[in-house]
Amino acid sequence: MGIDFSFTPEQEALRDGIRKFLENEVAPVVAAMDESEEFPEATVRKMQQQGYFGLPVPEAYGGLGLGKVGYAILLEELGRVDASHGAIVGAHTSLGTTPILYYGTEEQKRRWLVPAARGEKLLAFSLTEPGSGSDSGALRTAAVPRGDGFVLTGSKLYVTNGREADTVVLLAATDPKLGPNGGVSAFLVDRGTPGFRVGRCEKKMGLHGTSTAELVLEGVELGPEHLLGGVGQGFSIAMTALDVGRVSLGAASLGGLEAALGQSLAFARERTQFGRPISEYEAIQFKLAEMAMHAQALRLLVYAAAAHQDRMGIDPTRWDRADRARKTREAATVKCLASEWASEAIDEALQIHGGLGYIRGTPIERAYRDARISEIFEGTNEIQRLVVARDLLTRGP
Ligand SMILES: Cc1cc2nc3c(=O)[nH]c(=O)nc-3n(C[C@H](O)[C@H](O)[C@H](O)COP(=O)(O)OP(=O)(O)OC[C@H]3O[C@@H](n4cnc5c(N)ncnc54)[C@H](O)[C@@H]3O)c2cc1C
Repeated sequence: MGIDFSFTPEQEALRDGIRKFLENEVAPVVAAMDESEEFPEATVRKMQQQGYFGLPVPEAYGGLGLGKVGYAILLEELGRVDASHGAIVGAHTSLGTTPILYYGTEEQKRRWLVPAARGEKLLAFSLTEPGSGSDSGALRTAAVPRGDGFVLTGSKLYVTNGREADTVVLLAATDPKLGPNGGVSAFLVDRGTPGFRVGRCEKKMGLHGTSTAELVLEGVELGPEHLLGGVGQGFSIAMTALDVGRVSLGAASLGGLEAALGQSLAFARERTQFGRPISEYEAIQFKLAEMAMHAQALRLLVYAAAAHQDRMGIDPTRWDRADRARKTREAATVKCLASEWASEAIDEALQIHGGLGYIRGTPIERAYRDARISEIFEGTNEIQRLVVARDLLTRGP
C-alpha cells in the first residue's frame, strides 16, 4: 500500500466526538482548576465513563481498541483544551497501561489492565528518584527478594497522578550493580499496601490540575504476581512505555500549538492598532506563518509515528530490532520538536496578544506555564537529542 495521509471517516468522527465533549465538559472548568490547583475529579470521571482512559487498549481488555492513531487524536484534542487533563490521561494510559498490556501475564491484565482501561481505576508510572532523573537506570529504590516475592524500600519523585492513583507501575533495582542492563525490574504497587504512602506533593509553575507526588516505600512486601515482565526487564519496559508516551506527548503539544495559532489568528484580526488590524502587519503575519508551518510538519510526524506503533503491534517479542530502534528514534524526534515548537508558538502567541497575554487567567498565559514542562518530562530534550544521535551513529541517517 502507498502512503495515505488521510484519516478514516471513523477517525474523523472520533475527533468530532472528542472535540464536542471537551468543549462542553472540560473547557468550562479549566480556568477554575488552574486557579484552585485541584485535581479535576469530576471531569476525569466523565472522561473515564467515555472510555477515554482506555482508548488505545484492545476491547478484549476493557478498552475502546482505537490504537495509537486514535489515541494521538485524543491527545491532540486534549492539548487544544487543557494540558493538565492531557497529562492525567497520558500518565495513566501511555505510561500506566502500556507496560501491563505489552508485558503483563493474562492474569495481570485481568486484574490491573481491565479496570484501568474501563476507567474504574487510575494508574501512575514511577521511574524518577531524587538521585536519578535523566540517568534513570541509576535508580536506588531497592527490591530485595524474600520468599517468592520482594520487599521494596526507597523513595520516588515527581509522580504524575501519584496522589490519586490506585496502582503505580514502579521501577526498582533488583540488582543495582547491573543498572539499566538487567538490574531494574517493574512492579505493580497498589495504594493501601502496608509501607507504601504518598509523600510531598509539589507546587508547580503549570499543570495545576495534576498531582506531582513523592512516593515513599518502607519495607513494602509484594507477592510474585506484582512483578511485571521478568526480573531485570524493567528498564526495557519503561523505555517501551516512554516511546508511546513521547508520541502522545507530541500529539498534546501539537494540540497546544494549534490552539495558540487559532487564538492568535482571531486576536490579530480583531485587534486594531495604528488604524489597522494587527494581522495586516508583516511582523505579525510571519509569526502566524511560522506557527502554521510547524503545525503542518508536526501533524505528519506525530501521526506517522503513531501509525508505525500501530503497525508494530503490542507484542515486543515479535519486534524486529531495527524497527524497534526506528520507533524509539521517531518518538524522541516527535517529543523534542513538538514540545519546542509548541513552547515557541505559545510564546509568540503571548507576544501577539500584547499585555493581555500576560494577564493571569487568560488561555495564553496558562498555556505558557503549562507548555514548558513538555521540554523536560518523559526525558528532557537533551536526552531526546542523545537518543537520536546514538541511533544516527549506530544505524546511520
Ligand atoms: C511536572 C512533572 C511531572 C513528572 N511526572 C513524572 C512521572 O509521572 N513519572 C516519573 O517517573 N517522572 C516524572 N517526572 C520526572 C521527569 O521525567 C524528570 O524531571 C526528567 O526526566 C529530568 O530529570 P531531572 O529532573 O532529575 O533532571 P536531571 O536529569 O538532573 O537533568 C538536569 C539537566 O541536565 C541535563 N542532562 C542530564 N544528563 C545529561 C546528559 N547526559 N547530556 C546532556 N544533558 C544532560 C538535563 O537535560 C537537564 O537539562 C515529572 C517531572 C515533573 C516536573
